Amino acid sequence: MEGACLSKFRAEQILTWVYAKGATRYEEMTNIPKVIREQFDLAFPLHAPSIVTKQESVDGSRKYLLEYHDGTQVETVGLPSSDGRLSVCCSSQAGCAMGCVFCATGRNGLTRNLAPGEIVDQVLAVQDDFGTRVTNVVVMGQGEPFANYDAVMAALRIMNHPKLLNIGARHITVSTCGLVDGIERFTRESEQFTLAVSLHAARQEVRDRIMPTMANQRLGTLRQALDRYAGATGRRFSFEYALMEGVNDSEEDLDALITYCRRLLCHVNLIPLNEVEGSSFKPVSHQLMASWRDSLEAAGIPASVRRSRGADLAGACGQLAAQTK
Ligand code: SAH
Ligand code: SF4
Repeated sequence: MEGACLSKFRAEQILTWVYAKGATRYEEMTNIPKVIREQFDLAFPLHAPSIVTKQESVDGSRKYLLEYHDGTQVETVGLPSSDGRLSVCCSSQAGCAMGCVFCATGRNGLTRNLAPGEIVDQVLAVQDDFGTRVTNVVVMGQGEPFANYDAVMAALRIMNHPKLLNIGARHITVSTCGLVDGIERFTRESEQFTLAVSLHAARQEVRDRIMPTMANQRLGTLRQALDRYAGATGRRFSFEYALMEGVNDSEEDLDALITYCRRLLCHVNLIPLNEVEGSSFKPVSHQLMASWRDSLEAAGIPASVRRSRGADLAGACGQLAAQTK
C-alpha cells in the first residue's frame, strides 16, 4: 500500500496517463491499482476544460474560449505554421491584476490564478483540436505569469518533460510585464525557458501612465535584473513594445529605447497594437514600425516587427473573453 505519500514511480505513471496518453478518467489507467484510482478520483478529480467558442482566422490560427469546471473562462490561441510547427499562446491567470491601460485583460481585474494542470490543459485542448503535436508554447495569453509563478513553472515542467509533452525548453516562452522578483527567480531556474518582457515604454513617466501597477518599479531596476539574467544564463531575452499613436511613439521615446537597450543582450519585438473596443489607443502606421526597426538595427540592437496573427479575430490578449461578456 502506498499510503499518504505517492511514490515518484506512481506519480510519473499518472502524469504519463494524463499528459502523454490523453486519459481523461482514472478508470482508463489500467496499470494503476483500482484502490489508488478511486482515491485519486475523490482527491484530484480530472476535469478537462470545455470549448465554449472557437474562431478560426483566415491565416489558420484558432482562438478558443475555454471553460473550467467552476465556470472560470480563459482564452487560448493555436497558431499553426507552414513548416509544421504548432504554437500555443496560453493564459496563466483568469484575468489580470496589473491593469495595463491598453490591454483588454487588464480591464476586468483578476478572477483567479490557474492551477498547473489548467495551464497544461490549454495546450492539450489545442493539440486535440488540431490533431497535431504542439511544438511551441508562449505564455502570452491572459494573466501575468510571474504573479502565479509556482503554478506556471510546474506547468512548464510538465510541458517540457520528455515523458510528458516533450516540448523543448527553448521553445517555451514566458512573457512578463517585468516583475523583478519573478525575473530573479527565473534566472535561477535550470531549464532554458525563454523570457520576454513587455516594456512598451523606456521613459519612466510614459510607462507609469500605461502600466500603472508597475509605477512603483524603476526602469533602472528592471534593466539591472535583466542584465543579470542575460549574464547568468547567456540567453538573449526579448522586449515587447506595442507602438501606440501619440503615447509612446515619439523620437524621444525611440531615443530612450535605444539608450535602454544598448549593451543589453536583448531583441526588440515591435508589436502592432490591437485596438480594444471603447479604448482611445490607436496603432501606428506600418511605416513607422519599420522605421523604428531600422533605427534600432542601425544602433546595433536586433529588432523585428511582429506579424499580427489572427488579427481578424479581434487580436490577442483578452479580447475574446471581453467580447463574449
Ligand atoms: N502579462 C504578460 C503576458 C500576457 S500579455 C505581459 O504583460 O507580458 C501578452 C502581450 O500582449 C504583452 O506583451 C502585452 O503587453 C501585450 N498586449 C496587451 N494588450 C495588447 C494590445 N491591445 N495590443 C497589442 N499587444 C497587447
Ligand atoms: Fe496583465 Fe499583461 Fe495585460 Fe498588463 S499586458 S494587464 S500584465 S495581461
